[in-house]
Amino acid sequence: MDLWFSEFHTPDAKFSIKVKEHLVTEQTKFQRIDFFRSDTFGTFFTIDGLIMVTEKDEFAYHEMICHPAFATNPYIKNVLIIGGGDGGTAREVSRYPTVQKIDMVEIDERVVRLCQQYLPQTASILDKDERINLFFEDGVEFVKNAPGNSYDLILVDSTDPIGPGEGLFTTEFYSNCYRILTDCGILINQHESPYYERDAREMKRAHQKIKRIFPIAKVYDFHMPSYPSGHWLFGFASKSLDPIEDFKPEEWKKFNLKTRYYNLELHKASFALPTYVKELLESV
Ligand code: SAM
Repeated sequence: MDLWFSEFHTPDAKFSIKVKEHLVTEQTKFQRIDFFRSDTFGTFFTIDGLIMVTEKDEFAYHEMICHPAFATNPYIKNVLIIGGGDGGTAREVSRYPTVQKIDMVEIDERVVRLCQQYLPQTASILDKDERINLFFEDGVEFVKNAPGNSYDLILVDSTDPIGPGEGLFTTEFYSNCYRILTDCGILINQHESPYYERDAREMKRAHQKIKRIFPIAKVYDFHMPSYPSGHWLFGFASKSLDPIEDFKPEEWKKFNLKTRYYNLELHKASFALPTYVKELLESV
């Protein structure tokens, strides 16, 4: 009998992957975690039934959450990752030799441990790079207690704003991010998607809150085949740096990083949004 994983993107539209093996299922204090093996997407894992990371397309998400910020400020030294238990975001940040410290705050230690076991493509970096410090606690509390001016870059690699991820989409959280960033600080956040109504509502709510706090608050997009509609967004917010006006392609080139999704032409293009997305964002 065929075994399929299905994720409902709306009550009457779903995305399915044929599963070769259901590797593990675990209910933690925070959420349900499942790992699967498939031909087309490789190993993938879900939290509460929603796809988080697949081996096939994770490069798009993890390159795009990280590299646009470094091409805007190549002098980033101290980085804070909130969530991101699979390690993919930490892996991309750790490619910069100029970074001195990578603090990663993941609420659920089991996500990290299971990814280390089943998804080394993203998680193997976590015990290889000594600059990475793991904290297993709520990101909301962590930023509340962190001293001001302590990070050049915050990457919010979160689940959706339901369950433990909810607090990462609040004004209080974004205000604390502002406070703990340095003067050239940049906040990149998982910004949901413009396409389906429920995701678009969250996208607008997040943008509205960030825009009130940060003088520069932009949104950029990328293609993510395993996420609802395949069209996903990150927010770029900063105290002083604009991702287009302060873009430093020549300096980023010097890092000599080989990427599969991000490139210097795409950097600018990703901030050019479809008209309906611009209108949705302008309406808040
Ligand atoms: N790329 C993924 C996506 O957009 O669907 C997100 C991947 S990562 C696995 C998301 C992580 O955020 C999860 O492991 C979850 O445990 C963590 N998380 C959720 N709420 C959190 C919180 N309040 N503090 C820290 N981590 C949190």
